[in-house]
Amino acid sequence: MTQRAYNFNAGPSALPLEVLQQAEQQFLNFQNSGMSIMEMSHRGAIFEAVHNEAITRLKQLYAIPENYEVLFLQGGASLQFAMIPMNFLQADQQASYVLSGVWSEKAFEEAKLFGTPIIATSSKDNQYRNIPNLTDIQFHEQDAYVHITSNNTIYGTQWQEFPNTGEVPLIADMSSDILSKPIDVRQFALIYAGAQKNLGPSGVTVVIIRKDLLEKANTNIPTMLKYSTHADSNSLYNTPPTFGIYMLGEVLKWVESQGGVAEIAKRNEEKAKVIYDAIDNSNGFYYGHATPESRSLMNITFRVADEALEKQFLAEAKAAGFVGLDGHRSVGGCRASTYNAVPLEACVALRDFMITFQQKHQ
Ligand code: PMP
Repeated sequence: MTQRAYNFNAGPSALPLEVLQQAEQQFLNFQNSGMSIMEMSHRGAIFEAVHNEAITRLKQLYAIPENYEVLFLQGGASLQFAMIPMNFLQADQQASYVLSGVWSEKAFEEAKLFGTPIIATSSKDNQYRNIPNLTDIQFHEQDAYVHITSNNTIYGTQWQEFPNTGEVPLIADMSSDILSKPIDVRQFALIYAGAQKNLGPSGVTVVIIRKDLLEKANTNIPTMLKYSTHADSNSLYNTPPTFGIYMLGEVLKWVESQGGVAEIAKRNEEKAKVIYDAIDNSNGFYYGHATPESRSLMNITFRVADEALEKQFLAEAKAAGFVGLDGHRSVGGCRASTYNAVPLEACVALRDFMITFQQKHQ
């Protein structure tokens, strides 16, 4: 077997080795059909079973209640930024957005095309180092919905607790922490996530939507951009990304085989702690970007205090086989994305590398 990289990419990112091996094995002749999964009809029995199993598995893993639909869409999380207000915001309505990073800003900007988004609170003044305090979030009874980003991929912050918005539907972009820990889906009216971090390859967007929302949606919008179109046709209105859905299903099987989301969450805590400890025990040689109480278990953002050394750190890490440690191009620094499929050994190897680098250079 070829050596697997220590893959800390922010997305697309590491997939479980077992899933890749399984896909490789099934690649040329899927279930004795004489063809790959990519070459068969999305309306045939084989694909349909794969598709339906993936939906069922996600419902089981996340304990998604009966009054929710699971949809597989395309266009990435970015299309959701537009689809949400297009479906649920009327021209004369307002919706509240919590700004906790650039992705929430983008969602907020798209909503301006359809109605009046309002900033519920923002941590921009603090360089998005923290998740805003629950008590600072202002939303209003007349809001069409409240929008949050549960994990901020660029800054390495993650909500620890979600706001109670009462009757107002709570919508969350969970692109970078979906299925990383147990959540109570009932707190949300809509959850969306691009698959390419915790769920599979890029090309599929998962939407979990409460059914009553579907009934309230605007109707004067293009067919493909209506959630109801996809809900009414079990996400098979048009040709879906069949290979991506197959891979997503395999990733879900893997999560199940690991003991489910609660077990994955324990492992994610352990993995992140290994790296945060290296930062916190470095006497300031490394320092974290996120404030400790907002730290993400998925994206660990940090700096090497000496800027020249930071460049050297990233170069040496790359040479040592660590992939994807550069911070997002908008903020610089370092970022280790430790999604579900990143093994503990990769985090331990990174910690050891950080400690050795510090010993050499301080
Ligand atoms: N939201 C979050 C939190 C993200 O991290 C990303 C991508 N990194 C996006 C939205 C955009 O996703 P996509 O590229 O699937 O449109």
